[in-house]
Amino acid sequence: MKVTREFLERMPKTELHVHLDGSMRLSTILELAEQQGVKLPKGAKDEKTLAKAMNVGEVCDNLPDYLKAFDVTLSVMQTEESLYRAAFELGEDAAKENVKYIEVRYSPLLHTQNDLSFPVIVEAVAEGLREAKRKYGIMSGQIICGIRHITPESSLRLAELCVAFKHRGVVAFDLAGAEADNPPKDHREAFYLIRNNNVNLTIHAGEAYGPESVHQAIHMCGAHRIGHGTRLREDGDLLNYVNDHRIPLEICPTSNVQTRACESFESHPLPFYMSYGLRCSISTDNRLVSNLTLTDEFENCVNAFNLGVGDLRRLMIDGFKSSFLPYRKKRTVTAMAVEEFDNLVREFEDKQGEEHHDRYPPRLAQESTLLTHGETPVDGVPAIPKEKAKPRGKKKGAK
Ligand SMILES: [Zn+2]
Repeated sequence: MKVTREFLERMPKTELHVHLDGSMRLSTILELAEQQGVKLPKGAKDEKTLAKAMNVGEVCDNLPDYLKAFDVTLSVMQTEESLYRAAFELGEDAAKENVKYIEVRYSPLLHTQNDLSFPVIVEAVAEGLREAKRKYGIMSGQIICGIRHITPESSLRLAELCVAFKHRGVVAFDLAGAEADNPPKDHREAFYLIRNNNVNLTIHAGEAYGPESVHQAIHMCGAHRIGHGTRLREDGDLLNYVNDHRIPLEICPTSNVQTRACESFESHPLPFYMSYGLRCSISTDNRLVSNLTLTDEFENCVNAFNLGVGDLRRLMIDGFKSSFLPYRKKRTVTAMAVEEFDNLVREFEDKQGEEHHDRYPPRLAQESTLLTHGETPVDGVPAIPKEKAKPRGKKKGAK
């Protein structure tokens, strides 16, 4: 089956790594700025000039440059209404491209310029996401971000907030911001509180800094997932650890190119990670700043890495598996997504005049055929092909 744009748009998806303040609509920023009397940079009056003023979709010199666009979005995200609206519209945009479950992250610390309290901020975002669920059925969770270039004390305050709102709309804690010179271990007290209260933890790591950052995130901070992990490929031993423990990577290739964590889209480690069996999911990181939808990002990956239907199915399943949904719910939701995906494949096979296939093996994430007969694959121990396997647990002559 040929993978088309329409197929990518309609396939069920998750988005696990998307920043609220990096994913607003340009039109909303313009409207809010006018309502609130906020001055936009370079006197931007329309979407085109605003996009230019914010470096939307452009390759930046470094991560701090990339983060500058957030000053603009944050300037209009200081009221309950604007937070509600940003959250609802992000849910709406995602639902329209069949994202079934989204985890939206932001730091309440950056929305207090008009003295909004942390709980009011979290509630405003929660209400926006709830409204998106009521209208479109999209499931969601909030991830509260500590900011690594702001003080560790502020991370601790945010961790406390996260604990208070656990099971009340918040699903995890994260550490975001400029990675170089700001190691995650500096914020270890916040992580300790998070772990002590059995809260999920994901950390931006291996993006603007090397694999040491991933190592710290996992071993010193207790991260359950890694945001990006682009430079994890530089440390094979750690890569195997991440793989063996099924630690999910939240992959955002376009963003990595924009922040120069990766030289080009084609040189992104995603195909290597997939072929090696790492648990990867695809996200946009910042829909506005990177100027793309999740469908766009899937399309970019299909074009650059020649992903087939089997690879997309693998990515979709890994996205659901990596989510911070409770386990039993996750199983149900994943099974429903798989059924919807397979039905969609059959619909497209009919449309393209193709016969139905029972199975689409992943092109990239393929496994050795020697390992497909119910044998447990163990590194270094070749599995026995089925036809040559001797029956187990039966003595000679037993029936
Ligand atoms: Zn991010």
